[in-house]
Amino acid sequence: NGLLTLVCIGLGSWLVLEPGQMDAFWIMVCVASLLGVMLVVPIGGADMPVVIAFLNSCSGLAAAATGFVLDNNVLIIAGSLVGASGLILTQIMCKAMNRSIFEVIFSETPAAAAGGRDDSDVYGDRVTSTSAEEVAMLLEVADRVVIVPGYGLAVAQAQHAVRDLMTSLEASGKEVMFGIHPVAGRMPGHMNVLLAEAEIGYEHLLDMDQINPTFSETDVTIVIGANDVVNPAARNDPSSPIAGMPILDVDESRTVVVIKRSLSPGFAGIANPLFAADNALMLFGDGKQAVIDIAAALVTV
Ligand code: NDP
Repeated sequence: NGLLTLVCIGLGSWLVLEPGQMDAFWIMVCVASLLGVMLVVPIGGADMPVVIAFLNSCSGLAAAATGFVLDNNVLIIAGSLVGASGLILTQIMCKAMNRSIFEVIFSETPAAAAGGRDDSDVYGDRVTSTSAEEVAMLLEVADRVVIVPGYGLAVAQAQHAVRDLMTSLEASGKEVMFGIHPVAGRMPGHMNVLLAEAEIGYEHLLDMDQINPTFSETDVTIVIGANDVVNPAARNDPSSPIAGMPILDVDESRTVVVIKRSLSPGFAGIANPLFAADNALMLFGDGKQAVIDIAAALVTV
């Protein structure tokens, strides 16, 4: 890739010195296309949204540069807007993932970097599993419930089941809110789109800064298929690969119920001490089925 970049710079310089040199132009088109493919091919699937935002931004900058050459103000302004907004989105996503754009483009995924770790010291025998009936009993006596969706909710397609659970909890007088992390799922706005599809009103969705101060007043937080975005190691363990990443402080709730199929890690590939916390209960199973079971158990409590 470095060699291809050097060839592009060389051909570009040649073109600037001899603008009529069309051979250099077409060779550069081919080399640049090859470089584009080679740069993107090794990037992990989940990093794609960041790369797409970055490439959008580059296309805006190219349009702005073309605007300068053609002396066209519309191209300059529109290109600058696209370039700037793409760069801002790229920066927001990288910050929320606790990675730099260079790490996304040039290095391995955090899962690969963390590969082969022994999780037994994090979990030991401190993980407490629970049942849908037990969760229904907890919800029955709760006043405030927060639901935190993650990638697993999308995999399980549990959004409609979650809406039904929310409706039945609200019918019995409980306050139900959703805590949305900016990089929950695998693309920006992933959770918002899923919940909107299930017609869950925007007034129920709180972003990280709004929901975090309220966890200490929350009776039950139900985490559905989220892992990295609720991992307290980001806050407490400076040696963690996700140290410093902003997270949802679900561990401050009175009780946290985590719905997922196993203790497997999420995208970052690291253990989550939340699962072994004293106030955490694991409900192992598919996200959608688990939510349906809880809603059914609520009726019989
Ligand atoms: P994670 O990837 O951390 O965890 C998802 C969890 O879902 C897994 O641990 C998995 O556990 C569980 N899961 C999978 N299938 C199911 C199912 N059918 N039912 C229940 N659970 C299931 O997801 P988060 O949303 O917490 O975090 C997103 C991650 O993706 C972050 O690390 C973020 O940086 C990264 N990312 C996000 C982007 C974005 O724009 N949103 C872009 C690029 C990366 P199990 O297998 O045990 O069920």
